[in-house]
Amino acid sequence: MSVILFNRLALIGMGLIGSSIARAARAQGVVKTTVGTARSLQTRRRVEELRITDAVVDSNAAAVKDADLVIVCVPVGQSGAVAKEIGPHLKLGAVVSDVGSVKGAVLRDMAPHLPQGVHFIPGHQVAGTEYSGPDAGFAELFVNRWCILTPPENADAGAVDRLAAFWRELGANVEMMPADHHDLVLGITSHLPHLIAYTIVGTADELSEVTRSEVLKFSAGGFRDFTRIAASDPTMWRDVFLANKDAVLEMLGRFNEDLSSLTRAMRSGDGQALFDHFTRTRAIRKGIVEIGQDSPAPDFGRPHPHLSEDSEKKA
Ligand code: NAP
Repeated sequence: MSVILFNRLALIGMGLIGSSIARAARAQGVVKTTVGTARSLQTRRRVEELRITDAVVDSNAAAVKDADLVIVCVPVGQSGAVAKEIGPHLKLGAVVSDVGSVKGAVLRDMAPHLPQGVHFIPGHQVAGTEYSGPDAGFAELFVNRWCILTPPENADAGAVDRLAAFWRELGANVEMMPADHHDLVLGITSHLPHLIAYTIVGTADELSEVTRSEVLKFSAGGFRDFTRIAASDPTMWRDVFLANKDAVLEMLGRFNEDLSSLTRAMRSGDGQALFDHFTRTRAIRKGIVEIGQDSPAPDFGRPHPHLSEDSEKKA
């Protein structure tokens, strides 16, 4: 049986991530009550209809009242403004975290608005889908996925431990690292792949010699996976590229160099260079499957050892 780690959990932003946290926290019984809010009346109404949280309030300031854990789940470009709104209303001793895909910019934008006596521990869950909004969330989203916490150097160890325990109860594996290192790592593993997917899908769409219906019909030849990634939320990804510009530009520079050397190998008929490169990348894929970060089966809804059937129904 799970222990209550926080009495009141406040979620600001009830999209894919916020609504998944609410569902998972309830399913795992790690909080007593949950309160949620979102920017629009439409989303707040939908959260109420779906009964994802115990209460829905209509302002960010009202959401954090008496909350012991506040998780900000909005696009990263909004995080500074949200911190400014909630700062004066936070409870002394509360843990404040976020889920933003970029950590350096979030730390820079939020920290100045948070008062002394509040524990700010930014986080990012390396888990997601291309869908958005409260209907898209589900309790198992974080199971067997990484949750990266980027506590500032002077962070309270007890608060960090409690937040890490919260994420472990939701099924995640927790890792700590400095915010700038997070941004470099995610720059190559997530942000650059998204940029490439957005580019290639746009390029295919603009080809006049190949009709759009042919692109759709033959998409299984590699293109389909790119279209899934390129369907990701435009607001979220605009904010990610603006907020993690330096790291993504650095990775893009390296990518362009490697693309040039593969282009050269192809042009000069250097089959050995192409074969060697593809052999190396095949081994990387094998490694990802071996450590359980992917499987040939669909990605989501894997059974989680802690999730009983009852708690799944409750969620
Ligand atoms: P989402 O489904 O689009 O939801 C965003 C939510 O934030 C919506 O409920 C939106 O309200 C709310 N919101 C926006 N501005 C707000 C404000 N100023 N005050 C209060 N609420 C506000 O997005 P998501 O996919 O959950 O992503 C949220 C965060 O998680 C982003 O920072 C993203 O980088 C990070 N993340 C995403 C993924 C992923 O795969 N999607 C994975 C890991 C981390 P309305 O609906 O009313 O507009």
